Amino acid sequence: IDTSPGTDYQSVLEEIADEIGALPGRGRSADYIPALACADPRSFGMALADVDGNVHGVGEWRTPFSTQSITKVFTLALVLARDGADLWEHVGREPSGNPFNSLVQLEYEHGIPRNPFINAGALVVTDRLQSLTGDASEDLLAFLRTESGNPDIGFDLEVAASESAHGDRNAALAHFMASYGNIRHPVPTLLDHYFRQCSIEMSCADLALATGFLARHGLLADGSRLLSRSEAKQINAVMMTCGTYDAAGNFAYRVGLPGKSGVGGGIVAVVPGRCTLCVWSPGLDERGNSVAGVAALDRFTTLTGLSVF
Ligand code: GLN
Repeated sequence: IDTSPGTDYQSVLEEIADEIGALPGRGRSADYIPALACADPRSFGMALADVDGNVHGVGEWRTPFSTQSITKVFTLALVLARDGADLWEHVGREPSGNPFNSLVQLEYEHGIPRNPFINAGALVVTDRLQSLTGDASEDLLAFLRTESGNPDIGFDLEVAASESAHGDRNAALAHFMASYGNIRHPVPTLLDHYFRQCSIEMSCADLALATGFLARHGLLADGSRLLSRSEAKQINAVMMTCGTYDAAGNFAYRVGLPGKSGVGGGIVAVVPGRCTLCVWSPGLDERGNSVAGVAALDRFTTLTGLSVF
């Protein structure tokens, strides 16, 4: 029984914001680079975009923040759109059950990462986007500007430089996969694009709009097709099973939507056929997912009954 056709999204978001305001623990901001460490864990914003591009929001929903691993959704979509299923020869689609930056599974999987949303998998995807476009991070940025309708979205080069200065783990992942022939570009070039990709700053409104193609079964904001219906379903499925790393089971249990988090504190979520959401609050749990963000999405699906289940 669908109880949600006339949902008043704005009042639902306001109710959630009130509840989140009273949430006691907020987790800690990511502290591996100074630019993220200074974010206030109490910041909170949430936006919802329907499939027609109407946006609702509460709190700091227009404040740009560091998108980080949320960008892995878009690079995956751009590679699948241009190169089809060949990608799946080079990256798996299984949850890793390990932290997002873990190295341990790569050796016995012969340099093939478990999925495109852990760092190892995202590096393979960005490497292939670089082959397809000649400038992976600029191609991604152009896509995000078009789909969000915001030409002011850009890289935060200070964050990118800081990621690079603290980038030993990602460099190790890339070199290790290169030793199996699963990375095509020189590792420093790849890391440059990956760190710029992670540094892109967007607001909840921007991200909810830019994710719209996943709710529209592959159609872009202008009605043209980026992905087949089946490919859009596949990305949503991988988001559901792998989008929040070693907390994906709990995210599915609590929220019941395809979602993708980033260590900047953002999470995007998709209600296929209906709308997309983005929530932002920089305080993270020990798995790198926003504490208030997961709580807010949990409340959204509970209050509206909108989930994929
Ligand atoms: N830039 C971060 C990294 O590569 C992104 C990780 C994340 O958001 N989970 O470590």
